[in-house]
Formats: sequence, C-alpha cells, structure tokens
Amino acid sequence: MSYAIFGGSFDPVHLGHLFIADEVLHAFGYDRVIFVPAYRSPHKDDRPSAGEEDRLVMLQAAIADRPEFTIDEFELEQRGVSYTIGTVQYLLDRYPDEPNPGLIIGDDLTHNFSQWREVKKLQQLVDILVAYREGAIDTGQVGRYKRIDNAPLPVSSSEVRARIRSGRNFRYLVPDAVHAMITAQSLYR
Ligand code: ATP
Repeated sequence: MSYAIFGGSFDPVHLGHLFIADEVLHAFGYDRVIFVPAYRSPHKDDRPSAGEEDRLVMLQAAIADRPEFTIDEFELEQRGVSYTIGTVQYLLDRYPDEPNPGLIIGDDLTHNFSQWREVKKLQQLVDILVAYREGAIDTGQVGRYKRIDNAPLPVSSSEVRARIRSGRNFRYLVPDAVHAMITAQSLYR
C-alpha cells in the first residue's frame, strides 16, 4: 500500500487541505493519503483553537466518504509537540512493506524547512510533495521535491476561524459536514 503523509493542525480542516490531498492521489497514484492531525505543531506558537477531539471528529466527518483518505492518531496520542521525523519513523515501522512514502507540505512551509528536526534523514526517508499556496518554494531549503500541480485555493484555517469569530459566512470554505458541526456546537466562537 503506497501512501502519502499529510500532517497539520486541521483547526479546522478546510477545502484547501482536501483539494491537495485529492490532487496527490490523482497525480502521483498513491493508494492512500494518511492525515496526521497534530496535537501541537512545532511550527506554531499558539495552541490549536479547538480541542484535539473536536479537530479529529471534524476531520473524520470531512473524509467519511473517501476510503482512500485515512487518519492516524499517533501525534494526538503523543500529547505534545510532535516532529515530522518521529511520525515518519512510526509510519515506516507500522507499514514496513512501503519504504518510500510521500510527505505533503504547502510551499509556505518550505521557508524554514532546513530547520526541521533531523531534516537530512527526513529527506532520505520520504518524497517531499509541495503544494502551491503562496507560490514560491524555497528550493535551497527543501532539497529534492515534487510539485503538486494544485490550483492554489486561498483558504486557511485562520481565515475560517476569524470569519466565525466575527460572525461572517464561512460555509463553502469547509466541507458541509464540518460547517454543520461547527455551527451546531458553536466552535471557534
Ligand atoms: P492556519 O491558518 O491555522 O495556520 P492552515 O490553513 O495553514 O492553518 P494547517 O492544518 O496548519 O492549515 O496546514 C497543514 C498543511 O496544509 C501545511 O503543509 C499547509 O502548508 C498546507 N495547507 C493548508 N492550507 C492550504 C492551502 N489552501 N493550499 C495549499 N496547502 C495548504
């Protein structure tokens, strides 16, 4: 089973996330994309706004109709800051028949990529797949990579949260099931 790993806070998951995951399946032919929600991201100063259980349930709802999309709760169970290298090593142990997974990142994350923990080892273990987001890749930092040819959707979790906080519409930025859950439970208010 070939797979690509997609880590993030998913706070909440939005259509930008789902679109690049789908593009990776179509363009590179992986059997699966494994979403790995972070308990706490090493790239962010702030804690996630929603609790880990709510973020997980929203993600489950968002991908419920897609058997090729799965979730691994490894980082949530670690309950701390998880580094990608640790998650990759865990997944390689878990799926020893697939030695060469993909790793999906937005191009915004390439700017400090050389600072990632054990970056040389990480670059050997995965194929780095970079999605268009801001548009520019810091190639010097990321090394060898494949470009995901996504149409950049200018949506972010922070934009969704800001809209909810100020009572603005956010309906078509997230999947319907996620919109329904946020509304019913008054998340991000
Ligand atoms: P926030 O606005 O809270 O920082 P985010 O929208 O960046 O959140 P994350 O869950 O932190 O969402 O992102 C996980 C991964 O998805 C990162 O690699 C990020 O670059 C990528 N990503 C998020 N949104 C998009 C998008 N619209 N297009 C391409 N890549 C994206």
